[in-house]
Amino acid sequence: MHPQHILKISEIFPSIQGEGLRQGEPTLFIRLSGCNLKCDFCDTKYAWISGKEMTVSRVMERIRKIHQIFPTRWVCLTGGEPLLQKVEVLARRLKNEGFKIQVETNATIYRPMAVSWYTISPKPPKYLYQPEYRKKAKEVKIVVTRGLELRVLQKLRQEFPEKIPLLLQPQSNRRWSLDQAKKLLKQSLKGNLNNVRLSVQIQRIFGWR
Ligand code: SF4
Repeated sequence: MHPQHILKISEIFPSIQGEGLRQGEPTLFIRLSGCNLKCDFCDTKYAWISGKEMTVSRVMERIRKIHQIFPTRWVCLTGGEPLLQKVEVLARRLKNEGFKIQVETNATIYRPMAVSWYTISPKPPKYLYQPEYRKKAKEVKIVVTRGLELRVLQKLRQEFPEKIPLLLQPQSNRRWSLDQAKKLLKQSLKGNLNNVRLSVQIQRIFGWR
């Protein structure tokens, strides 16, 4: 079996996209195992290690089965860091079967693939990302940590086209993080940073995963 045809998968499940501009859209999620970062605020730490090896064909079978009862055309590759693994073959198979692909990535890795929607979320302390995403990203999601400062938003705003929103994403909808997001939004307005927006995780409000 070619190594590209085996992936370590944490979970596959139907839900809604809870964050960002695609918020509310029914989506099938494929959560890949492993991450190259170890953020202390990570809310999917279970995906760093756990998971089982599956062939791409087996993943496609699961997707087709879930699709029968939850017939959306959107599939989101998430993690962990989904681009740590060679997901090109899976992406090609999904596309050939008519699915639209969203990738949620910390942006430290780029793989050329037919992706409809990149959501990138560079992480502290350095907020590094691959330069390809300046053109490819549809949205930049910034987790609102206690240490997040306006200068990070200023830098990202300079580097990404203004039409790409910078989304302030509070940590697990926690009160202190919501307040911090509000404060940063006001500072962004005063500092003339355009297209900075507040976001929340609506899947939690609806009781989805
Ligand atoms: S990059 Fe994302 S998945 Fe990886 S540790 Fe950080 S928050 Fe968790």
